[in-house]
Amino acid sequence: MSKVFNWHLGREMEYPYEAAYPERQFAFVFNINRCIACQSCTMACKSTWTFSKGQEQMWWANVETKPYGGYPQSWDRQILQLLEKANPEGQVWSGKPTGAQQAGPDGGMYGRFDGKTIFEARGPVLAPDSSRVLGYLPTDEEWNSPNIYEDNPVGEKGKPMQFHKTGESLPVHKTWFFYLARICNHCSYPACLAACPRKAIYKRPEDGIVLIDQQQCRGYRKCVEACPYKKSMYRGNTRVSEKCIACFPRVEGNDPESDGAPLETRCMAACIGQIRMQGLVKTNPDGTWAEDRNHPLYYLVHVAKVALPLYPQFGTEPNGYYIPPRWVPRPYLRQMFGPGVDAAIERYTNPDRELLAVLNLFRKSNRIIYRYELKEGPKVYEGELRGKPVTLYNDTVIAYGKKGEELFRTTIEEPIYERPPIHANSI
Ligand code: SF4
Ligand code: SF4
Repeated sequence: MSKVFNWHLGREMEYPYEAAYPERQFAFVFNINRCIACQSCTMACKSTWTFSKGQEQMWWANVETKPYGGYPQSWDRQILQLLEKANPEGQVWSGKPTGAQQAGPDGGMYGRFDGKTIFEARGPVLAPDSSRVLGYLPTDEEWNSPNIYEDNPVGEKGKPMQFHKTGESLPVHKTWFFYLARICNHCSYPACLAACPRKAIYKRPEDGIVLIDQQQCRGYRKCVEACPYKKSMYRGNTRVSEKCIACFPRVEGNDPESDGAPLETRCMAACIGQIRMQGLVKTNPDGTWAEDRNHPLYYLVHVAKVALPLYPQFGTEPNGYYIPPRWVPRPYLRQMFGPGVDAAIERYTNPDRELLAVLNLFRKSNRIIYRYELKEGPKVYEGELRGKPVTLYNDTVIAYGKKGEELFRTTIEEPIYERPPIHANSI
């Protein structure tokens, strides 16, 4: 095992290979507060990549209702239980979030994770030589119902199907659920890659996308067992494993629609709720994100700090980040997104003018945004929201592409278009 630095955990951790980082890293932010579970993303992916024989139960992109739903069923509960068994009561964070990627005495960005990752916990649960990563193989039944428990809320404690009949209000709802959209996180320390005895899985140096070499794979399913997010899947009729390929022809700019410009993936482009933004972030030689103040993903993760990694304690340093749902009990969210939850929700609930502008960049274009610029506009509203003063400005935010070309510009206030009388009742 090598020692590698994991900035999500604020410390070094064990990993089976030496550290190696891409020039840019495929990353994304999903704003859970906006997801409506329309499943357009799920179907966009399915109809592009997994519509063939043998892929019937394969959903590289999925949206599950938390806390009960999951694809495969109860994937997160099962891996959390294995980790707890390996390290009883020890899966905790200490220190305080410093907001810096480099670790100090108090830890780093989110404090320090003192528990064991899936790479460090394997010994106590598994025979030492049986696997390089702690994990489990889901059963066929667990893969069969990708949308199980959709819209099922948590109700009154200990009373199945009894929900609170009073109205709900922030900060926390008593009856609650939320939609968790998921794809492969193209992790910086991929568990699938670590576990593969054939070395069939690799991480591309140009964009950090994690791929399975279909010729090299022999279908041992070690990646399926090891991926804590269960985003590597076995295909019975070809007897090899497959996973999300991050729509790499689009990201490379090779889609006929793009005219050579890098395009976001199919699931991002299809998103009706405008919850998704994907990009390629610059990295430092030690794997941390290079400062890039006006990159929208850098801003959301490192400046505004409203977007957090999914289950950072697993240790894979996932490159998917989530703006947590405001109405959900905090202990549940802290387990899922780490110690940054309270500050992220506070900031998202009371956004400043830059955060409002960046949130307006989501889904205005399918082209990948490399930089944004804010042009200040006039004050348009002054009032009070949940006991706090708010002022709104009609700022303009401008998005730029890979070559510095302007992709689009948009304002905080949505323009109103009046339908001409001739079309007034056309729908
Ligand atoms: S999410 Fe799973 S399949 Fe994707 S890179 Fe990470 S470990 Fe591998
Ligand atoms: S398309 Fe967007 S809004 Fe619809 S389910 Fe997917 S992530 Fe949610």
